[in-house]
Amino acid sequence: PVVTRFAPSPTGFLHIGGARTALFNWLYARGRGGKFLLRIEDTDRERSTPAATEAILKGLTWLGLDWDGDVVSQFERKERHAEVAHEMLARGTAYRCWSTPEEIADWKAAQEAQGISYAVFQSPWRDADPASFPADKPFAIRMKAPREGETVIGDQVQGQVVIKNETLDDMIVLRSDGTPTYMLAVVVDDHDMGVTLVIRGDDHLVNAARQQMVYTAMGWDVPQWAHIPLIHGPDGKKLSKRHGATGLEEYQALGYPAAGMRNYLTRLGWAHGDLEIFTSAEAMEVFDLKGIGKAPARLDFKKLENTCGHHIAMGDDAALLHELQAYLSAAGKAALSQAQADRLQKAMYCVKDRAKTFPELLDKAHFALISRPVQPDEKSAASLDTVSRSILTSLTPQLQNASWTKEALETILNQAASDNGIGFGKLAAPLRAALAGRSATPSVFDMMLVIGQDETIARLSEAAA
Ligand code: GLU
Repeated sequence: PVVTRFAPSPTGFLHIGGARTALFNWLYARGRGGKFLLRIEDTDRERSTPAATEAILKGLTWLGLDWDGDVVSQFERKERHAEVAHEMLARGTAYRCWSTPEEIADWKAAQEAQGISYAVFQSPWRDADPASFPADKPFAIRMKAPREGETVIGDQVQGQVVIKNETLDDMIVLRSDGTPTYMLAVVVDDHDMGVTLVIRGDDHLVNAARQQMVYTAMGWDVPQWAHIPLIHGPDGKKLSKRHGATGLEEYQALGYPAAGMRNYLTRLGWAHGDLEIFTSAEAMEVFDLKGIGKAPARLDFKKLENTCGHHIAMGDDAALLHELQAYLSAAGKAALSQAQADRLQKAMYCVKDRAKTFPELLDKAHFALISRPVQPDEKSAASLDTVSRSILTSLTPQLQNASWTKEALETILNQAASDNGIGFGKLAAPLRAALAGRSATPSVFDMMLVIGQDETIARLSEAAA
């Protein structure tokens, strides 16, 4: 069975690069009936915070990435990590080392004095006679890494990556204070959690070589590796604040719908023919490692917006309303009243087609959210001249008797335009001003249908007065 995982370090917000890593792992597992696990790598006590963990869980939840089982805390597994380090000692694939930081620095200086520019530390304790071991002095446990040859990583994205063993030192797996190093903890946790595939950023590629040595030292199966290129900004440089939003929560607060974000992030560095717009269920069907590109993907805000626009247009009205309300709260904006929410849901069909974000959708739905008296903006107020106002007044009796359907309203308004010898556009302008207080709105018929007969007549009368 396939088991993937997302293993973020809780040292800040959830970066969109991390979110995409999680998404790829999630899609891969979900598309294969496998498991997607979540482990918080909180071994670095100085830099890890509960607030960061909270932000990661919230971000994943917003993006719709559900994980199986409990969230695993790496820190809480430290005894198990220590146990494995001691098991490596027992197997002879690790050794006790009493070298102090000063001794290591001296050793390196001596190497340099001999003209050896780069040499990884070689501990004198690697092959020391146990009889020479100091009693009662704390020791670190170092992995006995091969000094010759190479470690080959069969990466599903990068292909065969060869790392010369002489460039890797005998890394510490357990510090002299008894705490495990990150490199050991990752391997023990992935092994114990039954992880079969690791999809993560390619900044971990060299780590994979070191980690592979730990698997070998323990006689464990190595998971499949898939190291994905990082996300770059539109200019091809490493993504940073200067390009725009980098935290997932910023995207939520900007009003991008989660389904659109998921779609866009899936396509960011992965392709499947010319497939651009898809649901998560569709993505699960076809997501694979073959489609992951080797070159860094560039963030394209235009494309993100277009993708989001498609998802708003194809969204279920009630679900959109629900998500929009969550957006308002995430963005720290005022919540909708019940009346506004009801009207917005009714208006959804005529406002969702061209909105790329929730703020755009709210802007298009302006007519449905305002209450009387409508305050026309400058441009639309200009269309409410004396002649137009009298036409609006003359419409009232007919609207009072109208059956409130699009056809009936069309007949009434077209008739009024021709009776007054004006084109429909000339009539629509004051109607938009009266109904919405703006000149760019959904069609007057849609607005009238959404706000209903009484409200329409009231707005027209107020504008005509
Ligand atoms: N905790 C690591 C990070 O946040 C990820 C380690 C891994 O995926 O193996 O970069």
